Amino acid sequence: MFMAVESTLPTPFRTPASDKDAKALQFIEEMTKNVDSVQERVLREILSRNAETEYLKRFILNGATDRETFKSRIPVVTYEDIQPEIQRIANGDKSPIFSAHPISEFLTSSGTSAGERKLMPTIHEELDRRQLLYSLLMPVMNLYVPGLDKGKGLYFLFVKAETKTPGGLLARPVLTSYYNSDHFKTRPYDPFNVYTSPNEAILCVDSFQSMYAQMLCGLIMRNEVLRVGAVFASGLLRAIHFLQNNWKQLAHDIATGTLNPKITDAPVRECMRKILKPNPELAQFVTMECYEENWECIIKRIWPRTKYLDVIVTGAMAQYIPTLEYYSGGLPMACTMYASSECYFGLNLNPMCKPSEVTYTIMPNMAYFEFLPHGSSTSCLVDLADVEVGKEYELILTTYAGLCRYRVGDILRVTGFHNAAPQFRFIRRKNVLLSIESDKTDEAELQNAIENASLLLKEFNTSVVEYTSYADTKQIPGHYVIYWELLVKDSANAPTDDVLNRCCLQMEESLNSVYRQSRVADNSIGPLEIRVVENGTFEELMDYAISRGASINQYKVPRCVSFTPIMELLNSRVVSKHFSPDLPHWTPERRR
Ligand code: AMP
Repeated sequence: MFMAVESTLPTPFRTPASDKDAKALQFIEEMTKNVDSVQERVLREILSRNAETEYLKRFILNGATDRETFKSRIPVVTYEDIQPEIQRIANGDKSPIFSAHPISEFLTSSGTSAGERKLMPTIHEELDRRQLLYSLLMPVMNLYVPGLDKGKGLYFLFVKAETKTPGGLLARPVLTSYYNSDHFKTRPYDPFNVYTSPNEAILCVDSFQSMYAQMLCGLIMRNEVLRVGAVFASGLLRAIHFLQNNWKQLAHDIATGTLNPKITDAPVRECMRKILKPNPELAQFVTMECYEENWECIIKRIWPRTKYLDVIVTGAMAQYIPTLEYYSGGLPMACTMYASSECYFGLNLNPMCKPSEVTYTIMPNMAYFEFLPHGSSTSCLVDLADVEVGKEYELILTTYAGLCRYRVGDILRVTGFHNAAPQFRFIRRKNVLLSIESDKTDEAELQNAIENASLLLKEFNTSVVEYTSYADTKQIPGHYVIYWELLVKDSANAPTDDVLNRCCLQMEESLNSVYRQSRVADNSIGPLEIRVVENGTFEELMDYAISRGASINQYKVPRCVSFTPIMELLNSRVVSKHFSPDLPHWTPERRR
């Protein structure tokens, strides 16, 4: 019998699956019962260890570690406010600017600043904190889904290209950093956490080869798979799309026991050599399931023991829920955690709930958290223990790595409490207009892209009089659709199809590096599309909004649309469609 745990988790199965799980659940209970004292301790630890840093000295903290002094002296900042210091670290300044501990690397966020990924300084021990949060996920899941030790997880996990800053520090995404760490690579065997994907496949930077090997392993071990996942919903859909495009070659490899010659990465070839054996029966099964191109329920058909999908479908990912339901035949979707490059925040204590009901419980040991009531001034921040149910807040962070009162940009709503710990619904990220996967395009970026593209129309005496946009995720990969109403002054010299295609590419060239990387390296966003609409369409759009109660005085053209009647109106007025004919420029190196 396992150690008893006094858990208040609202679960149908209260018995921890192992002693290890019992300890993890006990830890969650302790943290959530003592939110305020843990937060006080975390702030004290951060401020005392970083007391001699340039940043804290600048605000004359004088070694104080209490909340009051901290709040009265340290300003709330955005990335742009601290960018000069970040640049100094990137250029090789090793003095303690933000953190007494050496900066081990930069984590490149999918959030951008001036078109480039934000660089988040981190310290080595943050890996332990991330690992700790990961270690809580399965113990919670095991409460809801028994028997996960009787099989494997098919997870599509990827690393991305790494670069070095001018000062020689590595700059890479947080998951690339984690998968390359010993925490992940040499993790001890845990029957509840066995993956079908070998480390070699996950760590292969070529996204085609990595995906191919991971899919092949998933197919070979299809009868062992109990859960299927990726970090975000878009990643899992990409995997399904990959299967649609590559099942013939995959089936061939399975039938013959030979590996596709396009897989050239030596460690991947070596590990696949051990896994791949001729299996004509399985090859025939894969062919039978795929050749009719009927993809409904494909996940359940190929991996029949799957109990749930492990993917984030909250926030920008909610747009993928219907497609995932179609492919999975309505399998539950578990959103297990809420995290970022700056900090891993917390976990979902009821992971089998419906996507619309997902709430995340922030773990108070991860960092010091403050909350800015949405729309209030930065003098009104409240502590984690003091947020109120029903209210929306912007998340503000103070980390062990030295970010102080940093605005993450996420808006969260408090839905309730687990013990003394508030539970948050992810509402949205501030200022994001368009998103297909990790790309985040804001209004200013879209406007700038439109302006750059319209320069190509000048010689045709044509201008863009109105525009709006739409993230089309019906097909995989999804793509940006931009609706343009044009003023063509000389119809004898109207812009040609070729010119409008080039406008699409010009827009892509103007978008941020995360967008361009997704287009070029990851293939996870399709070519940008411009749909030219009839003259007068945007006026009709305004009439429609006014008929639904909008004020004429205050009406503004929505720069992004998704409401079905509006989409129908726009689509019924389309006179021509144009696509980007090429890939935009992208290299791992930063432009600045
Ligand atoms: P990055 O800095 O690129 O790791 O992106 C982190 C951001 O992704 C967060 O600040 C959120 O906006 C978003 N994010 C992370 N986890 C979730 C989640 N579980 N649900 C919704 N959005 C999330």
